[in-house]
Amino acid sequence: MDWRFRSFALLVLFAVFGLGSAQAQPAIQPSVDITQVPPAAQPSAHFNAEAATEAYMAMIPPAATTRSNAYFEGGYWLILWDFLYASAICLLLLNLRWSAKMRDLAERVTRFKWLQTAIYAGQYLLLTSLLGFPLEFYENFVREHKYGLATQSFGPWMGDELKALLLYLVLGSVAIVVLFAIARKLRQTWWIWGAVATICMTVVLVAISPVYLLPIFNKVTRLDDPKVTVPILRMAHANGIPTNDVYQMDASRQTTRMSANVSGFANTMRITLNDNLLRRGSLEEIQAVTGHEMGHYVMHHIPKAIFFIAVLVVLFFAFLRWALGWTLARWGMRWQIRGTGDPAVLPLVFLLAGIFFFVLTPVVNTETRMHEKEADMFGLNAARQPDGFAQAAIHLSEYRKMSPGPIEEWIFFDHPSGYDRIHSAMVWKGENLELFEKTPKQLAAH
Ligand SMILES: [Zn+2]
Repeated sequence: MDWRFRSFALLVLFAVFGLGSAQAQPAIQPSVDITQVPPAAQPSAHFNAEAATEAYMAMIPPAATTRSNAYFEGGYWLILWDFLYASAICLLLLNLRWSAKMRDLAERVTRFKWLQTAIYAGQYLLLTSLLGFPLEFYENFVREHKYGLATQSFGPWMGDELKALLLYLVLGSVAIVVLFAIARKLRQTWWIWGAVATICMTVVLVAISPVYLLPIFNKVTRLDDPKVTVPILRMAHANGIPTNDVYQMDASRQTTRMSANVSGFANTMRITLNDNLLRRGSLEEIQAVTGHEMGHYVMHHIPKAIFFIAVLVVLFFAFLRWALGWTLARWGMRWQIRGTGDPAVLPLVFLLAGIFFFVLTPVVNTETRMHEKEADMFGLNAARQPDGFAQAAIHLSEYRKMSPGPIEEWIFFDHPSGYDRIHSAMVWKGENLELFEKTPKQLAAH
């Protein structure tokens, strides 16, 4: 098993080298600190949304902008490297006929077809994870440390990686067994039923993730701080969200990033704030962010996103049917693949999926970005905290580029840019100045 030894050696080398370079770079702590509204963004007779936006933008130190631009633009390249690296692994497994050998091994172990598929799937998922580890390690450990975004040392990080691998092996094997059973039994319509099964499994995954999957990696608890929860729950009830709970998670275990999200499906749908936001954000900022998340909730963005994914999955399976026919007719013999029902075809399926979704990157990002923009506007109206929202945009600039070009935004951004978010907030503020001007009575009280 020469290749296993070599990839293992490569992995160890990379780990040692990567660790060294991570330690050589001092971790740069995010340095933007917002304590008050800049003068140009304060309510006045000559309030101007552009000037207010610029005043907020000027609060970000140039060095911080340089750093976050480098981080974010590096992410563009990673989309390409991830795609090429994963494609290379697939081609390797096909051309060296490792895929066919893994299938032959599975067939020697058992005569049950579904068990053969499961054994093949286990080997495939494990081997590709191992081969993919160097890039995974660079992307999610070395690079995150280099930019001061990671909080985990190697041990706990690797622990999380192993948990994720185990989960991937179990869930991935189940999905592969189901899909190949369909491909073997329904020789004409497998691509339709394969798409249906994939969509169903996606829905189940989304539904179980906040309750069963997230707690494997992080502690999720009910948020219990009336100072934070009382205004948030008032906002929730005012907007038709029938909940008395907001959740928090210890994201600081892995990262310094501030964030919040809406997750789950149907009964499991919930809003979760991460502890970095709760610790570092002002109350106004927390309300602005929660208002945004409520927008996702009220406007059914998760079911809409699932519908969008469902359309893509159907298109993908239609593409897959055509592309498998075309490629197997040419190289099937050489790769020793017997047909679409043969598990050995899996690297080819992953290769084609990689190409399909790589090309669709701007489409997927644009669909997400449109939802995010809607949630931004909803959040401004619901929370009425435009300055809190601007502060949040600045905090998020620690890991997002603030001012991209229009084409760059269209291709790579799955959220509106920071500049756009502050600008929207300042336009909103300009149209609602009376909310922020102190009444004579309030002034007298000072
Ligand atoms: Zn959002």
